Amino acid sequence: MSAKFSEFVAPAPSYEDVSAQLTRIQDAFSQASDEAGRQHVIAEWEQVRRGLDSWTSLTHLRFNQDTRSDEYRKAREFCDEITPKLTELDVRFKRQLLESEHRPELERRYGPQAFALWDANARAFDPAIKSDLVEEAKLEAEYVELLASARFEFDGKTYTLPEMRRFAEHRDRDVRHRSLHERWAWFQQRGDTLDRIFAELTRLRTTMAKTVGLETFTDLGYLRMCRIDYGEDEVACFREQVCQQVVPLCMEIKRAQARRLGLERLHYWDDLVHDRRGNPAPLGDHDWLLGRAQEMFDQMGGGLGEFFAMMQGRELLDLKSREGKAGGGFCTSIPVYGVPFIFANFNGTKGDVEVFTHEAGHAFQGYKSNDLALYDYLHPTTESCEIHSMSLEFLTWPYMGLFFGDDAERFRSIHLAESLLFLPYGVAVDHFQHEVYRNPEASPQERHAMWQEMERTYLPWRDYGDLEYPSRGGFWQTQRHIYLAPFYYIDYSLALCCALQFWVRAQQDPEGTLGTYVELCSRGGEVPFRELVRGIGLRTPFENGCLDDVIAHGREHLVRSGWIDGSRSVPE
Ligand code: ZN
Repeated sequence: MSAKFSEFVAPAPSYEDVSAQLTRIQDAFSQASDEAGRQHVIAEWEQVRRGLDSWTSLTHLRFNQDTRSDEYRKAREFCDEITPKLTELDVRFKRQLLESEHRPELERRYGPQAFALWDANARAFDPAIKSDLVEEAKLEAEYVELLASARFEFDGKTYTLPEMRRFAEHRDRDVRHRSLHERWAWFQQRGDTLDRIFAELTRLRTTMAKTVGLETFTDLGYLRMCRIDYGEDEVACFREQVCQQVVPLCMEIKRAQARRLGLERLHYWDDLVHDRRGNPAPLGDHDWLLGRAQEMFDQMGGGLGEFFAMMQGRELLDLKSREGKAGGGFCTSIPVYGVPFIFANFNGTKGDVEVFTHEAGHAFQGYKSNDLALYDYLHPTTESCEIHSMSLEFLTWPYMGLFFGDDAERFRSIHLAESLLFLPYGVAVDHFQHEVYRNPEASPQERHAMWQEMERTYLPWRDYGDLEYPSRGGFWQTQRHIYLAPFYYIDYSLALCCALQFWVRAQQDPEGTLGTYVELCSRGGEVPFRELVRGIGLRTPFENGCLDDVIAHGREHLVRSGWIDGSRSVPE
């Protein structure tokens, strides 16, 4: 019988035990007399790594499920403390493998990608940065706890930050405006703390980069993200294409949105509402939604139905928002049990369906590639992971009637419009981080000005009106990734460029496209990003013209569904 989540155990490691295990593994590898012997040692190492990562996942997950629990907080603090020391042990063996005379033999067996990843891990780490890593984790936790502690009294009730989002997309303009006032007043009151945490993070990250022999944290950030087959120049080329091609289409979308809402000028508090009927919302609550999701996955095929039944049966979903629970949504893996786990904060909006199909895509991929030859291949690097999640958002389009009834078509148009609008936001966050780490000495005011510059370039329609804090450049502080996962954010835009290509294909050949999707998921991370993308016949986001098809089809769909005005010529 397969264990349920509530029965999962992953004992906390002791440094001495892991150190002894790893030393034994390193000796055994040196002494192994043949290929079979070396593979046996690597299999043992796999078990150790899977155990440690399961413990890390569970520790962070439980803390996110209840940030107020002392027990979970202490466990997470211990995890944050010991992780850099465990990384040191891990990197020591990886270096041995990288330098081994048997490397060609191992590459033949496991593929060269593992070596590329280990090389990035080794270059991103030096024992001298251990204490800085602990410090970094503490600051990140401070940010998470600060945001999780936010409470808003709104129209007689108390809400958390994720719960407040529903008012930002409320039909009533006044409710939206007032709720955003409350939200940003909270950020304004904590502006000094948010600035201080980020300034310390920037200083620490820059110091660590220099310690490992790199020029700026950007270089270290790329290594941490394990960017194997592209660098800063390719990313800049993609940002430029988004600026040239997507921003003008987004301007059209925003103009049409203002017309539908009957407004002369759109303000930030109108951003999330697309017409006077208000946004489509799922027709039922949490439990109802899970029932529809099972129906949908059963109808889709490709193994998704069986996968989702397993997720429900083994309690691998925590989707309700509640006090003390951290914000956001994510999927994590518990490799010793060979299963993923989905964490989200449902709030009764269409976002519940979007977050859910997104995280289900991540989870399905982990489930499909659990048995690959090497633990490093369980997931690819994150820009590729986000293809699995975002593509599933689009592949589930035909089934949206199950959740939204007659509003399904409206949901689809909004989803497409918001996806296109996301592309420039994603590159803005990315470009901002490049600026931040290029100028680590910048003052908080200068950082806010850098963000404003990004908004002018990539989000020229944004108008914060009388919302004081974001008007002065504070918006970026609500974007968790900037604090918690530097340089992650571009991955969403890179992946979306690929997911939208899946969408274009699925319109013509739904079944074949689902097959290709399952094939992609099953490959896990055995090759780097560009190779995965080319392997399924998509264009990589770094080629000139990568967005041509997507923009043409996207525009055509929006015109056909009456979402934007077709008489307007394609902007040059
Ligand atoms: Zn994701």
